[in-house]
Amino acid sequence: WWNQAFEAAGYIDAFQVKVLPDDAHHLDIRYNVINWVHRSTRGWSYGGSVVDPRTGEIIKGNVLLGSLRVRQDYMIASGLLAPFDEGYEQDPRMMEMALSRIRQLSAHEIGHTLGIYHNFASSVNNRASVMDYPHPKVDIINGQLSLENAYDEGIGEWDKRTILYGYQEFPEGIDESYELRKILENTATQGLLYISDNDARPAGGAHPYAHLWEYGDDPTSQLSHILEVRDIALRNFGEAVISMGTPMTYLEDVLVPIYLFHRYQLEATVKLIGGYQYSYNVRGDNQLSPSILDDDLQRKALKEMIKAVDPNVLALPESILDLIPPRPAGIPTSREQFRGNTGPSLDALSMAQTAADAAIGLLLHPQRANRLVEFNARENTLGLEEVIETLLGSTWEQSTKTGYQGVIAEVVNFVVVSHMIELHTSSQANPLTKAKVLAQLERLLDTLEERKDPMAKQASLMIDSYFENPSDFEIPSSLPAPPGSPIGSDLMMCGY
Ligand SMILES: [Zn+2]
Repeated sequence: WWNQAFEAAGYIDAFQVKVLPDDAHHLDIRYNVINWVHRSTRGWSYGGSVVDPRTGEIIKGNVLLGSLRVRQDYMIASGLLAPFDEGYEQDPRMMEMALSRIRQLSAHEIGHTLGIYHNFASSVNNRASVMDYPHPKVDIINGQLSLENAYDEGIGEWDKRTILYGYQEFPEGIDESYELRKILENTATQGLLYISDNDARPAGGAHPYAHLWEYGDDPTSQLSHILEVRDIALRNFGEAVISMGTPMTYLEDVLVPIYLFHRYQLEATVKLIGGYQYSYNVRGDNQLSPSILDDDLQRKALKEMIKAVDPNVLALPESILDLIPPRPAGIPTSREQFRGNTGPSLDALSMAQTAADAAIGLLLHPQRANRLVEFNARENTLGLEEVIETLLGSTWEQSTKTGYQGVIAEVVNFVVVSHMIELHTSSQANPLTKAKVLAQLERLLDTLEERKDPMAKQASLMIDSYFENPSDFEIPSSLPAPPGSPIGSDLMMCGY
């Protein structure tokens, strides 16, 4: 794929991939190498370089491509497609998706060896870079899920520009710094965005278009789409996601990424709330200066985030609840499963709590809350009071329901109280933010007073005991979600 970028820069067949000669050693400095490695689990892959410290010249590129992620991708595809109706089908779609993912991943790691950083803003430019973290693109065709276009093929427009900038050689007499500046300007004029790790990864991030594991150019409508995909997959979920003879307990492993299918889109969409648009502009260039995100976009994002904690969304279809037995002797439990507090049965309430926690924790992140207070004062955009009022309006202030959905609604209500207290007590929250949260907690106490039922009393007790002794109060926490990203040290992701 990278040859496409070098050819676009005028270097014909400059970049080639071949099988390593039998007599070559993979550590030989003369060879750039892609190593196919087996690990204890689905670890990160890495792309690194041996660099001459005197000049910065890349001497050797070295990729470690982990093998086990292919299995995870295959499993996610099985969970989405539920292809094993009879149990013995040979369906090529899962393998095709897994292979298209590993092709994309190898191009990504090779990109690092060429000296290229992540660009997490490429989704908004129609998957313009292999240096983003892609999420499988799932299309809904006549109510069915399709993985036909799950991963992009070939090098992206952004990648061509980075090779042009980094590898172009200029003839004698040409002003190199002027020409390089021109490449940057033309890239910006083409509308290609660039935002990297420091702005895309943090939970308190503000850039509306820099996200990991997502696609699409509008994070809000994309959350709606992803929730619809998840809903279809959950309704189709059953024996048909595993082949005949597979222990039924493995259904839980397949269920985890489907139930949490929207987790990364939540991280993306929430960045529009208290959102701040910017580029890494330099004096004299034509890139965007920082600005508060349009109020309308912030409100739409809030509405969609709230939908993600609706009991309808968090409830599993009844058909799944009694489908999955615990692990038998000989098959150990693993970190890839949901943790629960119900012993052998699938803890559907803890699952709902974990999923609700992801959305509400992001919404009430202290950095986001501080920005909401400031931006609202400056430009009258969406404020923190309104965010919390909307959240309470769709949780504690709803009439109580009965049955399974009723208990899920109560689980979500308690997650809301916990995160309000957590925000109030956070050392990152400024006093203005704390004051607004305090007012909302007091308002909630009034609402709870009116309800008088045991759940309301329990929540009042929580808030009262926090007020009485804030420093000793232990905020109830949700069980952590099983890993979504590859497993291993977060500090070493992709080698950059
Ligand atoms: Zn990477």
